[in-house]
Amino acid sequence: MATTSDERRVLEAVPRGVLVGGEWGPAAGSAELAVEDPSTGEELARVADAGAGEARAALDAAVAAQPAWATTPPRERGEILRRAFEAVTERADDLALLMTLEMGKPVAESRAEIAYGADFLRWFSEEAVRIRGSWSVAPAGGSRLLTMRQPVGPALLITPWNFPMAMAARKIGPAIAAGCTMVLKPAEQTPLSALALAAILTEAGLPRGVLNVVTGSDPAALTQPVLDDPRLRKLSFTGSTAVGRMLSERVAGNLVHVSMELGGNAPFLVFADADLEAAVEGAVVAKMRNTGEACTSANRFLVHEARAGEFGRRLAERLGAMRVGRGTDAGVEVGPLIDAPGRAKVERLVADAAARGASALTGGHRVDGPGYFFAPTVLAGVPAGAAVLDEEIFGPVAPITTFATEDEAVALANATEYGLVSYLFTRDLARALRVAEVLESGMVGINRGMVSNAAAPFGGVKQSGLGREGGAEGIDAYLQTKYVAIDA
Ligand code: NAD
Repeated sequence: MATTSDERRVLEAVPRGVLVGGEWGPAAGSAELAVEDPSTGEELARVADAGAGEARAALDAAVAAQPAWATTPPRERGEILRRAFEAVTERADDLALLMTLEMGKPVAESRAEIAYGADFLRWFSEEAVRIRGSWSVAPAGGSRLLTMRQPVGPALLITPWNFPMAMAARKIGPAIAAGCTMVLKPAEQTPLSALALAAILTEAGLPRGVLNVVTGSDPAALTQPVLDDPRLRKLSFTGSTAVGRMLSERVAGNLVHVSMELGGNAPFLVFADADLEAAVEGAVVAKMRNTGEACTSANRFLVHEARAGEFGRRLAERLGAMRVGRGTDAGVEVGPLIDAPGRAKVERLVADAAARGASALTGGHRVDGPGYFFAPTVLAGVPAGAAVLDEEIFGPVAPITTFATEDEAVALANATEYGLVSYLFTRDLARALRVAEVLESGMVGINRGMVSNAAAPFGGVKQSGLGREGGAEGIDAYLQTKYVAIDA
């Protein structure tokens, strides 16, 4: 329930239907999906609860729009993105409030995500005009080899609830820049930010059918007709490894191009020579950004045995002092978890660690009241085998374990099926580079707790995914190469 006039205003401004071929409309039978405020558990708004029929119509619209969009001048495509970047930036306050209402993170963090999401629109507005091919002489002579980069075709974009705007912008931006049309399916918990972004892109001049949006409560039923349709040429998914793996198998039959941004289990290494102050500050960012509900969240703190006591004490002081509450309230630094199952998982992981001998230096329990709050928690002495070290926590819990040597630290860091990001803190440059080289992750943060940047290639190795989003690589996911042999 919206409690202030500002909250009501930003909610009322969001289109609630499905967007198909440039028209907003209801789902069949006017079915509706309720969106909940995770800080109260109360209903905020209702959006269309679409099914297979709307999804099929959305793909039809994307397929119909594809030929003209592919030949739209790159500058025009880029300028639509640029206008959308400016509109998102101008409306950042309203968009941040909207995001906080549906997702729960504090407004300051929502603003940071709006800026991060807008950055993808700006970055890809600049990349749209830099799609290049090549020209060369065949090694044996007699012919010329020309290559061109063309849009891969209609894409299905599936996004998670934890970064409702940035994850959508990180896919829509390069798809538009490359000349692909698309169907976007946002997460059922947080459809409002994606709908608001779609409305801004429409206002910015995106032609009908280029971006179609379907929201719904049953993601499997909703996406089934699109996934099984041979006209779909690209699937870009951000979400859990289990679902990503299943969807990859699903589209393999039609040899659809896939990009997978999946789960993580980030190690955070603190060597004996680290600047402890900086390591604690980095740990607060790497752990508490998004209340720990981030694929990049530090999941395992591996600290040299000589520094673990002090590190744990200082981190517990910082986390224990953080104010927990509704993300719209002034001074709140930690919002609720997304829903009851999300909180139950965190409770299970903490209980398992405690049963195995870990001790809570701060927190360790839920916060009473409405909403799905959990106290910021530091666990010391977490033994190998504890589930909290193997599973994605997705909550404000920092488990600490120790190591004695660099080799042991690297072995522990790599002892996971995931490989999204690693963090390491040391004052020794040679060690930093040596360890960064052998860490099995797609990204490494050296002496900093955050790596995300629209101009950098974001993505994982091992079970954390395939492909990169952002950076110069980001647009590649939406392009394919055609080679032309010329008799000359
Ligand atoms: P999720 O896998 O449950 O859902 C992600 C999306 O997939 C949602 O839109 C959901 O509706 C949809 N989905 C779920 N089941 C589906 C099905 N059977 N068919 C089609 N679509 C389906 O993940 P989540 O809980 O929304 O998000 C959290 C996960 O996302 C975490 O594992 C996190 O690490 C990961 N994540 C990864 C990145 C990254 O860039 N690597 C970024 C953010 C989140």
